[in-house]
Amino acid sequence: MTVTADSVWRECLSFIKDNIKPQAYKTWFEPIKAVKLSGEVLTIQVPSKFFYEWLEEHYIKLLRVALVRQLGNEAKLIYDVKMENNYSSTRPQIVKFPSSNRDPLKPQKVAVSMESDKRELRNPFIIPGLQKVKIESQLNPNYNFVNFVEGDSNRLARSAGMAVAKKPGGTSFNPLLIYGGVGLGKTHLAHAIGVDIKDKYPDKTVLYISSEKFTQQFIDSVKSNTRNDFIHFYQMIDVLIIDDVQFFSGKKGTQDVFFHIFNHLHQNGKQVILTSDKAPVDMQEIEQRLLSRFKWGLSAELQSPDYETRISILENKLFRDGVEMPSEIIEYIAKNIKTNVRELEGVIISMIAQASFNRKEFSIELARQIVDKFVKNTKKEVSIDYIQKEVSKYFDMDVATLQSKTRKRHIVQARQLAMYFAKRLTKTSLASIGNQIGQRDHATVLHACKTVDNLTETDKQFRKYVEDLTKKLTF
Ligand code: ADP
Ligand code: MG
Repeated sequence: MTVTADSVWRECLSFIKDNIKPQAYKTWFEPIKAVKLSGEVLTIQVPSKFFYEWLEEHYIKLLRVALVRQLGNEAKLIYDVKMENNYSSTRPQIVKFPSSNRDPLKPQKVAVSMESDKRELRNPFIIPGLQKVKIESQLNPNYNFVNFVEGDSNRLARSAGMAVAKKPGGTSFNPLLIYGGVGLGKTHLAHAIGVDIKDKYPDKTVLYISSEKFTQQFIDSVKSNTRNDFIHFYQMIDVLIIDDVQFFSGKKGTQDVFFHIFNHLHQNGKQVILTSDKAPVDMQEIEQRLLSRFKWGLSAELQSPDYETRISILENKLFRDGVEMPSEIIEYIAKNIKTNVRELEGVIISMIAQASFNRKEFSIELARQIVDKFVKNTKKEVSIDYIQKEVSKYFDMDVATLQSKTRKRHIVQARQLAMYFAKRLTKTSLASIGNQIGQRDHATVLHACKTVDNLTETDKQFRKYVEDLTKKLTF
């Protein structure tokens, strides 16, 4: 068998896999590609500098053992860091075991001359005239790491955030850009990093600010001729967190001033954390030179949470609110709200409000009503055939029985339930529903729907049927 980069790496992987947690393996090793093998030197491609640093910090021993097993004591590993920006070529970096030299991978620093004048600084956050410069972080302590639930969808961003919090300005993820769609936790994570830094380094000046506010302050400073004060103020900060930088789009003046502030901070080893609803490549009307700065560090995406993570987020929220909810309801919500953490929380808040104000019990039915308000028409329609099958199955009868003319109570009820769900879950007309469920007319269907509504209110056993079937039919 010929030994190739691939085959060597595969062997290493199977060894590594046996020695670390599956989640860690998936996050840190699956994305790696083996690209070259010459003699005892294996080159692997990693997706970012962040990956490289993470591997060096956490897995270097394991990598070393794995590689020595394959290639002997002279084994060497080269990281080929696939840069996220497109203008620079990849820069391979030899790392000799066991020591590691990571300097050559630090982003190059760009000298920007900023004449410094020593006038008194004006802090845009305090009333002008106040002597002492004290900067309030503007952080929300409720947005912390402890309640930022970890999942596949956020693991990279979350770990990067924690690494930054451990060594603000001291990692190569500077700036750290967190991006992703609405309600996926960008603001929460950005605060969490700030809160953690404040915790670990109380003397560091941390500032969280939205891009809107930053822009407004800048405009005000131009009007009042205090642009330099504005710049100097921001240049004093150790950890600057700017939320939603996509808001800088098309605002040339703000971008310019931020560019200078950024360079100054970066050059002085200060940490910059940014969030955006888009990846840098997709940002519109942001100057190239600024975009290239964004790409210097790490861009980490927050994706929509998967099912397990949605469950954890819901459970975490309920736990913090001191509320107990049956797991089947939690599952129902997690199955039906898929894209947005804010909506998941919204459903829980509505459920709690409804249950306490209207003294309703938590039920699948209540969850359904609330979920319906959040997700409009996104559910796929089920067919009437499917409804009849499921209802028949639930009552242990066949579809022909359900459709028959019999007046036996339990069969009538099953038929009425099928009609009710057909009305509720499909856009079919009453007449057509009647036609498909045992050749009845539209009045019969209407009557069935009313009966089911009434019985749901008054009959506990019946309500259970409706809930069970709702679950079966809408999951
Ligand atoms: P974005 O800024 O991306 O629009 P937010 O940070 O405002 O989103 O998050 C929306 C809501 O969802 C917040 O209440 C936040 O606490 C919550 N949230 C988001 N992600 C998580 C998570 N992984 N764990 C717990 N709560 C989360
Ligand atoms: Mg936000």
